[in-house]
Amino acid sequence: MAKYKAENERDRCVACGVCVSMCPRDAITIYKGCYAVIDEETCIGCGICEKNCPAGVIHKVLR
Ligand code: SF4
Ligand code: SF4
Repeated sequence: MAKYKAENERDRCVACGVCVSMCPRDAITIYKGCYAVIDEETCIGCGICEKNCPAGVIHKVLR
């Protein structure tokens, strides 16, 4: 069964870390201080990061 997972637009991420601090699964890391990377395997698609990203660059997609 398909499930929603989070995905971000890395080129528009400002590396603020809000998503990292709010993710209940610790699924997000900031790569070399440049942009957030979301681990698709760990993400449960709760949407908290999407709702709180100040740059609006996280979206839920069907996996
Ligand atoms: S959708 Fe939820 S579990 Fe997935 S990365 Fe965002 S906050 Fe974490
Ligand atoms: S909250 Fe948005 S802008 Fe900030 S690090 Fe996460 S994806 Fe990037």
